[in-house]
Amino acid sequence: MKQEEIDYIFRHYHHFLTLMEVAAEKQVLSNQPEVQELLKDGAAIFRMRTAERLLREFPEQIYFNNCPQCGRLARTPQAQQCRYCLHCWRD
Ligand SMILES: [Zn+2]
Repeated sequence: MKQEEIDYIFRHYHHFLTLMEVAAEKQVLSNQPEVQELLKDGAAIFRMRTAERLLREFPEQIYFNNCPQCGRLARTPQAQQCRYCLHCWRD
């Protein structure tokens, strides 16, 4: 999974994270074994694994809004203009 896809999932689908994942993301409750387990391979690996889990568990809800012209990921799930090629797909 690309870094921009991981960031996109964390930004727009944060509500699917568990409480312990939120704690791990904020690096609080670090005395909790579950948080320690989540972060044992570092924050970047944690974010990648969590994004993969969300995609696996919520495939119907997570929408990658890719530009119909260049195929790159838009800034938000609702965006109707590409930040890269500036293509606009409003009705
Ligand atoms: Zn584009």
